[in-house]
Amino acid sequence: MQRKLLALSLLASAALLIGCAHTHSHGHSHANAGLLNARCPMQPACNQKLATTTDFQGGKVGFCCGGCLAEWNTLDDAQRAERLAAVKKQE
Ligand SMILES: [Zn+2]
Repeated sequence: MQRKLLALSLLASAALLIGCAHTHSHGHSHANAGLLNARCPMQPACNQKLATTTDFQGGKVGFCCGGCLAEWNTLDDAQRAERLAAVKKQE
C-alpha cells in the first residue's frame, strides 16, 4: 500500500516536471479562443497556456504540450469527456 502511494506521487511529480518545465515564449493573449476548455485537461493544476489542440466531439480541446495530447490519445472517449468536464470553460 505504501509502495503504491509512493509510485503514485512519483508519477504525479514526474508529470508536473514534464508538463510544467516548458515555457511558451509566444505572447498572444487569445490563444485559447475557440477551445472547449480553459485549462489543459491532463494537467489542470499546471495552468500553462494551451499550445496544441485536437478535435473532440465537434469542438477543439487545447493542451499545454504535446505530451499531454499524447496522453489524451491513450484515453477512451468516456475518460476524455470526464477530463474535459473538469476544465470546461464556464459560460
Ligand atoms: Zn502538458
